[in-house]
Amino acid sequence: MPKLSIVVPCYNEQEALPLFYPAVEEVVQRVDGLKTEYWLVDDGSADQTLAEMRKLHSIDPERVHYLTFSRNFGKESALYAGLEAATGDYVVVMDADLQDPPSFLPQMYSILQEGEYDCVGTRRTDRKGEAKIKSFLSDQFYKVINRVSQTNIVPGARDFRMMTRQMVDAILSMKEYSRFSKGIFSWVGFRTKYLEYKNVERVAGTTDWSTWKLFKYAMDGIADFSQAPLSLAVWLGTTSFIISIIGLIFVVIRRLIEPTSSAFGWASMVCIILLLGGLQLLCIGIVGKYIGRIYMQVKNRPIYIIKEKK
Ligand code: UDP
Ligand code: MG
Repeated sequence: MPKLSIVVPCYNEQEALPLFYPAVEEVVQRVDGLKTEYWLVDDGSADQTLAEMRKLHSIDPERVHYLTFSRNFGKESALYAGLEAATGDYVVVMDADLQDPPSFLPQMYSILQEGEYDCVGTRRTDRKGEAKIKSFLSDQFYKVINRVSQTNIVPGARDFRMMTRQMVDAILSMKEYSRFSKGIFSWVGFRTKYLEYKNVERVAGTTDWSTWKLFKYAMDGIADFSQAPLSLAVWLGTTSFIISIIGLIFVVIRRLIEPTSSAFGWASMVCIILLLGGLQLLCIGIVGKYIGRIYMQVKNRPIYIIKEKK
């Protein structure tokens, strides 16, 4: 009998977890000929999330497993740990807050079983209940990253997706330290079908993703999946070089035609020095970002540290 692993990254989800488990159980128990297991990953929560996981584990120790980190490593690390622990022929990744409707599971499973697709993903068609600025920035992010990166990132795609074992193994083979899942899911390839749904709000708890945190996440994603920012330095350098050559020719010719003309433009000189200084710092900063990533990668630190696994 095929087995489905349900991987759930959890950070401070003490209120959501007790609602999540029965909601998913109700759906998966009705799918004939499918075994399921849960991998609840406690990402160093500060509340009673782990206690809730222990409770669920004691209800069904054979099927409900959990692992807990030594501290908060972030959702990407929790996702990776869950995928590593999962043993199923199919794996689905879900948030604990029921923003990923469990009612999709039977449909996702039957699409994968037909064999044409290796992955069934989901995308939100609206962003109801979200701040305007957040939606705006997120639209811009998808535009920019798809322009500068070879990896296609589907706008509005959520991490909620069901994958075959083959695809999960491909994802696990990517051991990069800085993990941008939206990019990784797409980078490994395979055929993905997207199901669409309207945004659902959290059942309980609050989101940990402030607009600023999302912005930084987006910037990291661009740096992880594109080298376009590095080319910026080349373009800025080339442009200012060409402009300076034109300026030089202009100054020499002016001197030849009008030998009495005096030096001019101290104010504009200062502006130009500041402009070029600024551009140089910007470019060094961009290069620095990439060096920082190399530094973190060569240190080869583990992506997560497990404290307890059951
Ligand atoms: N999460 C996590 N570690 C973190 C932050 C979040 O494991 O550091 C989990 C969280 O418990 C939830 C999922 O990642 O199950 C998505 O988080 P959230 O619902 O806050 O984000 P949103 O749905 O708003 O994108
Ligand atoms: Mg959520």
